Amino acid sequence: MTERIALVTGASSGIGRATAELLARNGYYVFAAARRMYRLEQIRSHHIEPVELDVTDEEAIHRVVGHVMSTKGRIDVLVNNAAYAQLGAIECVSMEAAHHQFEVNVFGYARFMQSVVPHMRTQKSGCIVNITSALGKMTIPGFGWYTASKHALEALSETLRGEVMEFGINVVVIAPGLIKTEFVPNQLRLLDTIAHPAAYEKLVAGAHQIVSHEPRCPGPEIIAQAVLDAITTSNPPLRHALPLDSKMAVVARWLLGPRLFEWAVRQQMKPWKP
Ligand code: NDP
Repeated sequence: MTERIALVTGASSGIGRATAELLARNGYYVFAAARRMYRLEQIRSHHIEPVELDVTDEEAIHRVVGHVMSTKGRIDVLVNNAAYAQLGAIECVSMEAAHHQFEVNVFGYARFMQSVVPHMRTQKSGCIVNITSALGKMTIPGFGWYTASKHALEALSETLRGEVMEFGINVVVIAPGLIKTEFVPNQLRLLDTIAHPAAYEKLVAGAHQIVSHEPRCPGPEIIAQAVLDAITTSNPPLRHALPLDSKMAVVARWLLGPRLFEWAVRQQMKPWKP
């Protein structure tokens, strides 16, 4: 059987790392991409090849995809996963920080999609898995720029799917809820670097509060398993939200309508009192 080839971004930690390792254990040859090479070296094996890149560097992406094609001759799976969350009130996050959020979370994904699709089109096969978020379909005060980036990504994914399905290419969205990785600690650190006037004190406390149960959340392995299921099933769900709270968020928003849903979110942001 021909070796299956995958490229996973954001593979130096969390969901990307768990996915790279799971795919390698299941017969894939994985190109594992991120900026921190020393972290990628920890997972190097006969089936995992680390590649150093920043997803904002278009030339580096073309170089890496060129390397995949020249060494392996094909690319079966792209797992677009590298991202971070720029929290902060919309008023307070600088335009520079907002641009960078989109550079990584939207254009970073788009650069990879543009780079692999021509090869998948020639092969007449391939699967692109875009890791979005529960916040790809809803919003929370204080999460505006991140949420906007994930909404954009949901739209791009759905559009691309319609454009390339006739070439034998599948595009799948996986939308995680809270998962225990480096993601939440990093986003809280970044939030604390934003200068908020005192008027936003409650909002900043609420943003901390809403992710406060992250230490009790599932680990990245459940998302890695969802990726493996999506790329090995002939007709996977187009959007797989998990764990259950991510799925329920979409249902709840639909059932409650925008005003009641907004109220429910604000309740979640209030400090917990015994
Ligand atoms: P982590 O912070 O653990 O991992 C993020 C990865 O992205 C790292 O490997 C990091 O590698 C990489 N990355 C970040 N910026 C860049 C960049 N400019 N260029 C290249 N690589 C970059 O987070 P998760 O594993 O949790 O997140 C993975 C995905 O899951 C993201 O898309 C996130 O939005 C989504 N998600 C996560 C949730 C959670 O609760 N964990 C909830 C909802 C969605 P390095 O720094 O070495 O470059």
